[in-house]
Amino acid sequence: MPMIQTDAVVIGAGPVGLFQVFQLGLLGWQAHVVDVLPEAGGQCVALYPDKPIYDIPGVPVCTGRQLTEQLLAQAAPFLHGPSNLHLNQQVESLRIDDSDDAQPQSQARIHVHTSRGVHLLTKAVFIAAGAGAFVPRALPIPGLDAADAPVNLHHHLPPPEQIAPWAGQHLVIAGGGDEALQSVLDVLASPQAQRPARLSLLHRRDQFQADAALEQQVRSLIEQGQVHLVLGVPQGATQQGPDLTALSLLHADGTSTLCLDHLLVRLGLSPRLGPLTDWGLHLERKQVSVNPATFATNLPGVFAVGDINTYPGKKRLLLCGFHEATLAAHAAAHAIHPDAPQHLLYTTTSPLLHERLGLI
Ligand SMILES: Cc1cc2nc3c(=O)[nH]c(=O)nc-3n(C[C@H](O)[C@H](O)[C@H](O)COP(=O)(O)OP(=O)(O)OC[C@H]3O[C@@H](n4cnc5c(N)ncnc54)[C@H](O)[C@@H]3O)c2cc1C
Repeated sequence: MPMIQTDAVVIGAGPVGLFQVFQLGLLGWQAHVVDVLPEAGGQCVALYPDKPIYDIPGVPVCTGRQLTEQLLAQAAPFLHGPSNLHLNQQVESLRIDDSDDAQPQSQARIHVHTSRGVHLLTKAVFIAAGAGAFVPRALPIPGLDAADAPVNLHHHLPPPEQIAPWAGQHLVIAGGGDEALQSVLDVLASPQAQRPARLSLLHRRDQFQADAALEQQVRSLIEQGQVHLVLGVPQGATQQGPDLTALSLLHADGTSTLCLDHLLVRLGLSPRLGPLTDWGLHLERKQVSVNPATFATNLPGVFAVGDINTYPGKKRLLLCGFHEATLAAHAAAHAIHPDAPQHLLYTTTSPLLHERLGLI
């Protein structure tokens, strides 16, 4: 894969990472964003897409998903379609090429590699990694969470424009929380040609830990026979070649085998700091220490914003993350081009900003 050279790399497409792209764009910087999740929005979309947020200035109320849609629309002039957004991949390494100390900071010398082989070379990195990379919780069965996991084991729903791999087959959804129950509804709401021929919901007991309205809808689908509720604790898996073909289940009164064509595990997401701990950053209780005037880390050209950072008085709030992204962009511009004048421009009146925003 060819190396991509860019002004900035933003690690994390959560709300703060998206606003970071916008602030950098206003300064004339091009940024590439990487997120391990299949869609942008970080916690707002992964943890509370439909819950209301009441403390965004000027926005009396919006849901996590609505906020993300607005942030994406705001950053759109600088995202150049999806080409600058690298989803479904984790940033695995960050290395500063210090072989030539005489190189000015305006020279791109930070190498960033992702788990899908994307290699970015940049002048500045903005870590907006929240509580870490969100990875799906796996079923605790040997082999099912390994890198060479079966090809018919899934942890995310495909986007609506893609044909679901389980069309016309037996899909088992594992889980009893909001994610699993919402997936049942989403799968049944997909166009007829994309739906499985049989849909089973596998949970360890006949009790869900989900929103009451969601549970009511799924219970009624179970009563109508559109969803088959299977109770049991998965103990083992049978594989044929690259495919998982069955799960063995343990019940109070014995064991059984559940044959399947596809397994969608929806047990929620858990954040992992993962590779970030190996990059030489100063960490304090799993957060990156920053200078609160610039949000610079101890690594030259590397900044940290949003929930991932810590400094005296830190509050893990969206508003604070947006403020940090704004100051970090300006601080990076100053650090990398110290001789260039730094004028504060208003989006209301500046023709230069209007041009960058694509308005003129
Ligand atoms: C239930 C709930 C309700 C909340 N309500 C409010 C509220 O009302 N008001 C408010 O101000 N705040 C609220 N918050 C807090 C707010 O959501 C967070 O402050 C905000 O999401 C932080 O944004 P972020 O972009 O810093 O991090 P995140 O939203 O966590 O996004 C970080 C992203 O980085 C990705 N990532 C991390 N590491 C890597 C890596 N190595 N490679 C690739 N991707 C990576 C993650 O997958 C994630 O998508 C709430 C939080 C929760 C959980």
